[in-house]
Amino acid sequence: MIYRLVSPEGQMDLEVLPQILLEWQRTLKLLDWDISAFIAPSEEMDSSEGLVYWDLNKKIAEIKIVSREDYPSDAMCPYCIEKILVHELLHLHFAPFDAKTGTLRGTAQEQAINAIAHALVKLKYANLSPQGATANSSPTA
Ligand SMILES: [Zn+2]
Repeated sequence: MIYRLVSPEGQMDLEVLPQILLEWQRTLKLLDWDISAFIAPSEEMDSSEGLVYWDLNKKIAEIKIVSREDYPSDAMCPYCIEKILVHELLHLHFAPFDAKTGTLRGTAQEQAINAIAHALVKLKYANLSPQGATANSSPTA
């Protein structure tokens, strides 16, 4: 696989990717999958921000994520490598009954995955922020 790094943010994305992949595999109960995730050059991305390929029988998957540099500057949402990763990982739960892209079911599935990925990442960071902390979640000595 080819890595292309052109900025410090891109370098940070590359460093954090294996860590967040493992974290989200654990959170999403996907540790029984052998999953590789890469930041891929735009020519491999087919105009997508993320792509996932899987073999359901072998539980093997490969995830490609657009680089920060190739992410459209006029996109409606800011670049979030974690949200893209979670989105692609969620596709693995839908893989046994995957709906075809371009169909009504495919669109509904994509919207559901988008909403769930957005909510999960938002909840993670809400829980990490001081505003998200509750009395029960305060660390004890
Ligand atoms: Zn998708």
